[in-house]
Amino acid sequence: MRTENNPWKSSETGEAFSHCVRCRMPLVELGAPWLVNKDFHRGECVLEYAICQGCRDEVTESLSESSKQEVRRFLETEIDWEARIAGFMSSRDPLDRLRTCVACSTPAAEADGYAISALFDEGGRIVTGPLPLLLCRCCIDRLLEHLSDESQEVWRQFLGDCFDGPPPADGKAGFGFF
Ligand SMILES: [Zn+2]
Ligand SMILES: [Zn+2]
Repeated sequence: MRTENNPWKSSETGEAFSHCVRCRMPLVELGAPWLVNKDFHRGECVLEYAICQGCRDEVTESLSESSKQEVRRFLETEIDWEARIAGFMSSRDPLDRLRTCVACSTPAAEADGYAISALFDEGGRIVTGPLPLLLCRCCIDRLLEHLSDESQEVWRQFLGDCFDGPPPADGKAGFGFF
């Protein structure tokens, strides 16, 4: 990855994320966990944000039931969690998880694009569980193509509401925070 030692800082400012992208509240004052998502295309960060647990829940709640099921199915069947957990145990460095795609194992350096995601607790410490993870562009697209139009609209709406200017690329950036 082209990013500095701490990929969870903002690529734009070099600082840790301080506010939720949606409710704009200071993360450390929320008393709740938050998620950091960053999207890369050819090594450049094209989208990045932190979102608090409450906002994340509200947005994912508005996804259609079929899409929620599809996301669950994808996560359960496309990711070899046993192998992942074994890998995590043998490495104490959460950054090792960002070397390859969680689903297809393509090295990040060989992927056209990818998204990374990490969960932080209310004190700003990284939580190691299913996250952090990296998902390559191909796998993101495979996941998104199964989502209903209305769920894709939820995502576009989120991008439109929370970011200035036109949504990145074709509005398909990111795999959201499912
Ligand atoms: Zn929020
Ligand atoms: Zn992949």
